[in-house]
Amino acid sequence: LALYAAKANGVGGFVLFDPKMEEKADRERRLRRDLIHALERHQLDVVYQPIVDARSKRPVDCEALLRWHHPELGPISPVEFIPIAESINLIGSIGCWVLRRACETAATWPRHVKVAVNLSVRQFARPNLITEVKRGLADSGLSADRLVLEITESVLLGDTEENLAVLKRLKDLGAHIALDDFGTGYSSLSYLQKFHFDRIKIDKSFITELDHSTNSLSIIRAIISLGKTFNADITAEGVETDSQYQILKREHCDHCQGYYFSKPIDAKTVGAWLAASEAKSDASV
Ligand code: C2E
Ligand code: MG
Ligand code: MG
Ligand code: MG
Repeated sequence: LALYAAKANGVGGFVLFDPKMEEKADRERRLRRDLIHALERHQLDVVYQPIVDARSKRPVDCEALLRWHHPELGPISPVEFIPIAESINLIGSIGCWVLRRACETAATWPRHVKVAVNLSVRQFARPNLITEVKRGLADSGLSADRLVLEITESVLLGDTEENLAVLKRLKDLGAHIALDDFGTGYSSLSYLQKFHFDRIKIDKSFITELDHSTNSLSIIRAIISLGKTFNADITAEGVETDSQYQILKREHCDHCQGYYFSKPIDAKTVGAWLAASEAKSDASV
């Protein structure tokens, strides 16, 4: 490990630092600065990943996933820039933009296909979240029951009464609520009693392990039976292989999402993908 000694600014002592750490901090500063203009400079984009019914392979939803094409640094993963957007209070405006785009795009799809939009916990702090969702639906003409809102358990951890109230109002609008990345984090089961989720998404780390680990099979079974108890549809995320798919189908998982079925598709092409897969499944009936 290359460690450099540097004179700390005026303190008279020495600090140790790793050039890699400094590079990381530089990159973060740069992303923070550039993200502020990303929306107006048309660098953000939404792509859509199909989620299929496990039995028929027919598409039921598409998940809207945000992309940032940085002019010099190339594509930046949302795993890297969403936390930055949250830290500088940009997630509200970006999230609202994603929602509007997703509703407009989904309004052109076959009627039985819903669109799933990720909501950050920070968006719940916005007093106008409900108004924004209503407006996104009204302006696009998408009916509320074709919108799925994906949240993580962080929305219901800690001081949650207000978030819970917002979640209930979103559901009262007619939207479906999905619990994302289930099985990671705290996974306190108590919040399943406080709120009825329409969908529970099993985190992809469990699906990845499915081929080698009997533990992850046990966990998946337990989540599926939890889903039955709470009358929630279960989605498996990150399905990449036929053997993973076969196991999930055998275990009566409701929905599957992953590269095995499709990678995220750009807005212009997703409609054609949905139509083609409809035609295929009609032909096989
Ligand atoms: P997520 O909501 O759990 O989305 C699923 C992630 O798994 C996506 O990563 C998707 O591309 C990836 N994925 C799907 N199938 C496979 C597979 O078979 N193998 C592998 N290795 N990966 C697969 P992505 O697009 O990089 O997004 C990462 C995370 O960023 C999302 O996780 C979500 O938490 C967040 N995110 C993305 N778009 C938005 C957004 O518009 N708003 C907010 N708040 N968060 C977003
Ligand atoms: Mg998600
Ligand atoms: Mg997830
Ligand atoms: Mg069901």
